[in-house]
Amino acid sequence: MMDIKDLYQEIIVDHNRSPRNFGVLEGSDLRLEGFNPLCGDRLTLYLKLDGERVSDIRFDGNGCAISVASASLMTEAMKGRTTAEARAIFDAFHHLLTSPQPPADTASLGKLAALAGVRDYPTRIKCATLCWHTLNALLEGRSTPVSTE
Ligand code: ZN
Repeated sequence: MMDIKDLYQEIIVDHNRSPRNFGVLEGSDLRLEGFNPLCGDRLTLYLKLDGERVSDIRFDGNGCAISVASASLMTEAMKGRTTAEARAIFDAFHHLLTSPQPPADTASLGKLAALAGVRDYPTRIKCATLCWHTLNALLEGRSTPVSTE
């Protein structure tokens, strides 16, 4: 078994304890549910767009510490971004967690790089990427709930 404490860097602990942008977003333009059957993480992502820009984003649901911290960090990183920027951040984050070689430069990811440690725990990668796949599906205009399986 993994030692979960290894994953809990300061940022992750903080964002799990007091998740940012948590709760229903009234008047959202888009909403989508995501589910990670492997762990039982469930979330609903709400998005409000101003043209091509993410003017507001929130999430709610129930999940493990990694899934909540990742959604909290993601919503923080997405506010005010254009949808094209959001997709670029998704790609960079996905690469960080799933590529055979971790990217040498994680500076562009800012606080999101705190989740890089999840790489070493393959069963938790879906916890960290659930909210991201849900966001990506929203941006692609999909309306069926996202499952990581
Ligand atoms: Zn989980």
